[in-house]
Amino acid sequence: MTNIYSNIIKVNNKNIARSIKYLKKNETVAVPTETVYGLAGNAYSDDAIRKIFKLKNRPTINPLIIHYYSVDDLAKDAELNKKFFILFKKFCPGPITFILKKKSSSRVSNIANAKLDTIAVRFPKNKDIRKILKKLNFPLAMPSANKSSSISPVCAKDVAEEFKNKLKIILDGGKCKIGIESTVVDLTQNINILRPGFISKDKISKILNSKIFSNKSLKTIKAPGSLKKHYSPGIPMKLNQTKVFNNCAFIIFGKKYIETKNTFNLSKNSNLNEAARNLYKIFRKIKGKQYKKIYVVKIPNKGVGIAINDRLKHAAN
Ligand code: AMP
Ligand code: MG
Repeated sequence: MTNIYSNIIKVNNKNIARSIKYLKKNETVAVPTETVYGLAGNAYSDDAIRKIFKLKNRPTINPLIIHYYSVDDLAKDAELNKKFFILFKKFCPGPITFILKKKSSSRVSNIANAKLDTIAVRFPKNKDIRKILKKLNFPLAMPSANKSSSISPVCAKDVAEEFKNKLKIILDGGKCKIGIESTVVDLTQNINILRPGFISKDKISKILNSKIFSNKSLKTIKAPGSLKKHYSPGIPMKLNQTKVFNNCAFIIFGKKYIETKNTFNLSKNSNLNEAARNLYKIFRKIKGKQYKKIYVVKIPNKGVGIAINDRLKHAAN
């Protein structure tokens, strides 16, 4: 095993205990979740939060999502409302993040929520991160475990590629089941999708039985995650293409296209969930092969396809 991967350790009771010990010392640990791998730190500690921003080289105006084990834990830090409880009951734990009013008595570091009067909160479903959260008496701030504006990691090796030996612990829980970031929904005023994800706007609207917005309809964009260049392999990318070019990567979907060494199929079976799971893996593969350009076919804009198209648009920007 090469030295740069020596910080990857398998999920087991001993290594979970080691991670917990580390988090209690306000150190950062990379951990699996069902969406993408996270870079976790004590959300109540300015010290831990500063380490996360520094490691990621993340702009301090871009707030972090705070991860909780239970509603009881969250109630200490945020004002909960009726819509929150409806969505919580239906989708949590799971890939959905809520923007709520931060309580004035909350101990969440102001640096973590970029000094806003709101916080972004999530209850991850992955059993390993839940084991960790259960044993801590503080929530975890946890952005994706990649350098700011780079590709989100969907396995432990991706994290190691991003941070080399800068991280002491990368807890290896296998591949992420969903592979794309959580849906971010603002519940503070009008219900508003700030970032599309695995759980669609339609599903949320149906459960709440009300009209909801998506960020473009708002004047003030609240999620700097909608900062333009993001999720990027750092190679010029063109969307809605139909033709392959020599020496360029071609990201395809379904069985319509002839496969060559330059094609990368998101899902042969035209399955959007599978496409979401493969998206960042394919970005990373293409980045490693140093293509000059990436062409992408049109992806159906429904269900999780909306989130895939959102990430593609950001990457192409
Ligand atoms: P990441 O940590 O990379 O998954 O991104 C987290 C996303 O949540 C970003 O788009 C943030 O801008 C967004 N976010 C976090 N906290 C808030 C907040 N208080 N209000 C609005 N958006 C937020
Ligand atoms: Mg991220």
